Amino acid sequence: MTVITRFAPSPTGRLHVGNIRTALHNWMLAKKQGGRFLLRIDDTDAERSREDYVDAIRADLAWLGLDPDGEERQSQRFALYEAAFARLVEQGRIYRCYETAQELDLKRKVLLGRGLPPIYDRAALRLTEADHAAKAAEGIAPHWRFQLDHGEQLAWEDGIRGPQHFDPAQLSDPVVRRADGSWLYMLPSVIDDIDMGVTDVLRGEDHVSNTAVQLQMFTALGAQPPRFAHEALLVGSEGKLSKRLGALGADGLREQGIEPEALVALLARLGTSQPVEPVLDRAVLIAGFDLGTFGRAPARFDDAELQRVNAAIVHQLPFAQVQGRLPAGIDAAGWDAIRPNLAHVGEAADWWRVVTGPVERPAFDDETRAYLAQAARSLNWSDQPWRDLTEALKTATGRKGKALFLPLRLALTGREHGPDMAALLPLIGEAEVRARLEQAVG
Ligand code: GLU
Repeated sequence: MTVITRFAPSPTGRLHVGNIRTALHNWMLAKKQGGRFLLRIDDTDAERSREDYVDAIRADLAWLGLDPDGEERQSQRFALYEAAFARLVEQGRIYRCYETAQELDLKRKVLLGRGLPPIYDRAALRLTEADHAAKAAEGIAPHWRFQLDHGEQLAWEDGIRGPQHFDPAQLSDPVVRRADGSWLYMLPSVIDDIDMGVTDVLRGEDHVSNTAVQLQMFTALGAQPPRFAHEALLVGSEGKLSKRLGALGADGLREQGIEPEALVALLARLGTSQPVEPVLDRAVLIAGFDLGTFGRAPARFDDAELQRVNAAIVHQLPFAQVQGRLPAGIDAAGWDAIRPNLAHVGEAADWWRVVTGPVERPAFDDETRAYLAQAARSLNWSDQPWRDLTEALKTATGRKGKALFLPLRLALTGREHGPDMAALLPLIGEAEVRARLEQAVG
């Protein structure tokens, strides 16, 4: 059976590192098995859902290279929900309730006050048809709850958490539809998972108790539940799920110069027993993907780690992959020379100025100027001009190490650090190298 996974964001904001991670893992799970990865836009909440967020989700997934093999939108599937809902009403698995939010709150408080769990008491199940008719006559519409079968234990083998058990009697019958007819998350998700043939639901552990009640919805609708796995949540480096982490959107990361490949490499393994490494080849990440390596402890997202992985990824990016983002004039040799100095691709322009000039160099003392004059005289433009120049100077002056190299680097680039001089010299070119040495002498 083909593995089918889905990523189901609500379009009420931009994707952030937490849901990018969920999307990535679902994508990897599908790819590893040669399966399909679907995007489901959970936009039943018309008020909070926004079309520009739907577009942004698609754009962010495209930027990340997580292309869905299909897309569905919940707002276009209401007919399907109506039909399944009608079946469950028919079976007596869904019932009408009228308690107001205040009444429910009071019931909860009374139970808690008596040291009891705040479980809904199913008072509405005792209403007669006459009671319902009276409510209707008053113009009061019901909201609807799914009746959990207390005789059917809720158990599944979680792909990450292992065996899970819930006692349905310890759970409230979930509200599945509001009095205004709008849908809550729980039931449409199950209807969609059945209809879309989802074989594996991989999501955050904040959904564990939803899974428990959704299991009975699958069976009530005559379907085999999918496999479930719930991953530990992502927390900020300070330990709790910080606001900043939630605010760390794909757009902000992109603006910071984070490469999608860096985010993918980090999030692929964060919270697993596998080491986070700057792996550029997704095939390697996919081959190693294994729910069995996922830990139960919250995964710590550390921005400094992302920056480190990003730099290490940039150092590996081939020219063809970055060409469109580089300043005009940089060729493959230029990219290869400057790439080890970059933390972000956007810094290429700055380093490229070292090649194109003009460079601003410090004023040198007399001794250094004499040394640089000697360098200008010794320059012999071979196929390895840097090696030849420094060897000649070493022999002639007895200088070595920093005393040998630093004045040359400063004279030629104006900077104390930078790309490998051996790679830079051919890019700068003979005439310009000579000119820079002479200008440094003054
Ligand atoms: N829209 C839900 C959420 O973002 C989907 C949960 C699920 O994967 O079923 O939490």
